[in-house]
Amino acid sequence: MTLTAPFDRSIVSPLEDSFSGHILLPGDEGFETARRVHNGMIDRRPAVIARCIGSADVVDALAFAIEHDLEIAVRGGGHNVAGRAVCDAGMMIDLSAMKGTWVDPERRRIRVQAGVTWGEFNRATQIYGLATTGGAVSSTGVAGLTLGGGFGFLMGKHGFTIDNLTSVELVTANGDVVQASHDDNTELFWGLRGGGGNFGIATNFEFALHPVGPTVHGGLIAYPINAARQVLGFYRDLTADLADEATIVGGLTHAPDGSGTKLAVMLVGHCGSPRDASAALEQIKAFGAPVVDTLGPITYTALNQFLDPSFPKLAFNYWKSCFIDELGDDVIAVLDEQFACCPSPMSKLIVEHFHGAALRPDPSDTAFPHRGAGYSILIISQWRDGESDERNIAWARETYDRLAPYARDGAYSNYMADDESMARVRQAFGDNFPRLQKLKDRYDPANLFHCNQNIPPSR
Ligand SMILES: Cc1cc2nc3c(=O)[nH]c(=O)nc-3n(C[C@H](O)[C@H](O)[C@H](O)COP(=O)(O)OP(=O)(O)OC[C@H]3O[C@@H](n4cnc5c(N)ncnc54)[C@H](O)[C@@H]3O)c2cc1C
Repeated sequence: MTLTAPFDRSIVSPLEDSFSGHILLPGDEGFETARRVHNGMIDRRPAVIARCIGSADVVDALAFAIEHDLEIAVRGGGHNVAGRAVCDAGMMIDLSAMKGTWVDPERRRIRVQAGVTWGEFNRATQIYGLATTGGAVSSTGVAGLTLGGGFGFLMGKHGFTIDNLTSVELVTANGDVVQASHDDNTELFWGLRGGGGNFGIATNFEFALHPVGPTVHGGLIAYPINAARQVLGFYRDLTADLADEATIVGGLTHAPDGSGTKLAVMLVGHCGSPRDASAALEQIKAFGAPVVDTLGPITYTALNQFLDPSFPKLAFNYWKSCFIDELGDDVIAVLDEQFACCPSPMSKLIVEHFHGAALRPDPSDTAFPHRGAGYSILIISQWRDGESDERNIAWARETYDRLAPYARDGAYSNYMADDESMARVRQAFGDNFPRLQKLKDRYDPANLFHCNQNIPPSR
């Protein structure tokens, strides 16, 4: 039966009868909050939100959506700037209440349900002094970040998040609950490591953990904006020969206090021995005349919350990004000039560097194919409701266009906004696209799971 929203509660009663979580319809308490995601620009109204608390809820919600021909959107942490976690007039299968975490410190493994955020993940693992590569902002969801690849402070030493994924429980389009790992459904497991939510609804994930923290070294060092070119040049020199244990993000940003003060920054994480880490930090501290220097011992948890105040929930976001091989003077000049004309005091230009363990796998080892040395440049246009959308979006696009001559093929699906072309989405999967499409044909031939950076079936 096909439904048109809004529909009567009696239609969802059979689902509610056995549901362990909550079914929210427009007008229900909590519906308005539940339908919103991190990006305030996304303002969609599902017909029904199925807030699941376990895999059986997910199976039942999916069956209901199929029976009633409802479009399906799956929400993990809700951080994706494209806002694909929510759809208009369909069903949002909301996993954000699925908060289970089980750490096995002996085997150095964690299993988490799909609603866990990186802040919750780190809290659960750090009591054992364990961690794995994860998002640098604590409210980002484990689920979406992992399914897309996963960059974070530990990637030089331990690879991307997907390189630490050991198994996934998935509800497939036909309602089966399957395990995918290096031993089970291996092709599916390959596809889940970068192919996003295209093959089903992941209900829980298992990861390998490593001894990290509780205290590591790092923090933020910031310089006046008139030193931007020198700071980014120094950053380039530093990253030319970096220990695996160190990961450094460069950037041009505004102080998070709303003052509009522009800064050139480096955000550093070092998970090596205190001796090596201190020596690495001293080298950075000796450069220039910083106006803020927090580099030193820091808990791993605090390091991964450092950026939180710069990303308030419901701020308007429009992002563009690209990969570059080299951070040449010409690229640095573009960054400096574009940041100077940035219309919002909340926006930033972020440079992430790839090296070490993140680059060792072959591009075909995981669905995420981008294993080349170099950098990701992330243009984060962020502003408040009421300020000009057009101006802020135009600034991000213009910055991207000016960087395009230096960019290599490729894109990171997790950084895409809602308006990327199909050609650009394909670039996110690179040469792995045909193999991913075969997997899509096998697991989701009707493209039920299309609210994502979509891999359409071949026919
Ligand atoms: C402030 C901020 C900081 C960020 N920092 C980082 C970072 O440090 N490193 C990095 O790599 N990325 C980072 N990102 C990008 C991030 O990886 C993506 O936004 C990612 O999609 C977030 O996952 P989520 O579960 O929160 O998102 P959601 O919006 O809930 O989901 C994203 C996509 O994945 C699908 N999906 C979610 N859960 C499931 C599931 N269980 N099964 C199937 N499909 C699912 C959704 O349908 C949607 O298409 C950041 C984003 C923001 C906004």
